[in-house]
Amino acid sequence: MADNIEDVIIIGGGPAGLAAAVYTSRATLKPLMFAGAPYGGQLMLTSEVENYPGIPTIVGPELIERMREQVREFGTRIMDQNVLKVDFSKKPFKITADKDYLAKSIIIATGAQALWLGLESEQKLRGKGVSACATCDGFFFKEKVVGVVGGGDSAMEEALFLTKFASKIHLIHRRDSFRASKIMQERVLNHDKIQVHWNTEILKVLGEQHVEGVSLKAEGKTSDLKLDGLFIAIGHKPDTDLFKGHIELDEKGYMLTNATSALAGKKLPAFNPKFQTGTSVEGVFAAGDNVDHVYRQAGTAVGMGIEAAIDAERWLEETAT
Ligand code: NAP
Repeated sequence: MADNIEDVIIIGGGPAGLAAAVYTSRATLKPLMFAGAPYGGQLMLTSEVENYPGIPTIVGPELIERMREQVREFGTRIMDQNVLKVDFSKKPFKITADKDYLAKSIIIATGAQALWLGLESEQKLRGKGVSACATCDGFFFKEKVVGVVGGGDSAMEEALFLTKFASKIHLIHRRDSFRASKIMQERVLNHDKIQVHWNTEILKVLGEQHVEGVSLKAEGKTSDLKLDGLFIAIGHKPDTDLFKGHIELDEKGYMLTNATSALAGKKLPAFNPKFQTGTSVEGVFAAGDNVDHVYRQAGTAVGMGIEAAIDAERWLEETAT
């Protein structure tokens, strides 16, 4: 059994969790962070980051290392372990990793993962022309030819965003119709830089050091298409399985907070507008891509992590006995 009760345990060691750690450790709450194994989240798989304010260019893993160094300086204890079980049914809350840990408050920042096609060639060229984020990497494809895979709103949005940089976008979709909203479909279909390939499957991403193209299959025939980059936009999955049945999630598995549920016209059982990042369990806060399926940026995750830290700090103050 745990011998002491932590003020705050942070689950997740990406930008949202680390930002929450900066604030809670500076507030002398001595946070204990379970950063996961491997730690760091999606930024660990990102090459150049050029859109993090104040840092003109940095590779994703270095940004994470700098944040880890910063939070350790302020007294955060980081454990590079996965949490195996949670129990939020009574206070103090219980977290199980190598052993049980107790805490008065919890900040969940477990993030999300982009879905991938699952091809070996795709994984080999990730960060070498294969990306799941046009906002992050589109800039590197000025006047280049790129592919986008998917038929949902994300794929439409990525393709349209890429028209600002690329000279040509091949939108590759496995069926004969899009599931994206009509307005987005129309914008894509009417854009002269975007060519749609219907009923088309990607068999292989071509290239050794960098993406050089894709091998496609359409109507039983295979062909190669030359590309400089390939954006996979087939959806994301929040890392929230551990919390099913413990806090309220939406139908896609994203965590509902006071802010997001209010936007959806619902109120959580522990609704308190003062704590925007509060979840359905009072004292459990959530931040980052496990909540946000819209913006999904390191900078926005950091912002929400800071909000969660301030909420936890204020809530602990209010409930202190
Ligand atoms: P989504 O709606 O689930 O669409 C995923 C797309 O990827 C589908 O077209 C699907 O094909 C395709 N796909 C899935 N697995 C595939 C595979 N293995 N190989 C090839 N294609 C595959 O995901 P999303 O586009 O990320 O959108 C998620 C949610 O966020 C939606 O509710 C969306 O409306 C919302 N969103 C809104 C906006 C906006 O309003 N601006 C922007 C982005 C996202 P099938 O169609 O054949 O299943």
